[in-house]
Amino acid sequence: MTLHSEVDHQCQWCSAKFVPLETFPNCPKCGHKSPVVFKHFIELTLGSASYNVFMYRSFMPPAWISSSVGDYYWYTAFRYLAYCSKALGIAERDLLQQRGLSGIEAQKLTEQFVSNLKLGDHPYMTSAISNYLLDLLVYLDARVSKPHSSYPPTA
Ligand SMILES: [Zn+2]
Repeated sequence: MTLHSEVDHQCQWCSAKFVPLETFPNCPKCGHKSPVVFKHFIELTLGSASYNVFMYRSFMPPAWISSSVGDYYWYTAFRYLAYCSKALGIAERDLLQQRGLSGIEAQKLTEQFVSNLKLGDHPYMTSAISNYLLDLLVYLDARVSKPHSSYPPTA
């Protein structure tokens, strides 16, 4: 079993599929500002990734079908987190507890990872995906830095 995303947003103007986030509300293709942002998308991504690590000892589940653009983001996030673990020499189960992930090294890792993504007919997605992946690390840092924070958040 895996936890999937129900977010299947499309730009009102150009129909490009993407996930509007608080840090990236504009369509990466035409620039139109989305009237909605998915506020909990980052923490839900990490919830699904944590679940995979718990169930399968790996961010990447044994099987995954992306049936929404949100699922595509999550799948990319799993691959990215596995890539970061390997590059940093940190076990996947320990990565989510690691401090300092959003620093300069993470920026480099993200650029390297995204430059190897096969975006095919959607090269404009580079900026949206890069922003999303860095958001994941920033969120993790903020969570790990709080001494009494619990995950998932109870509030
Ligand atoms: Zn658009």
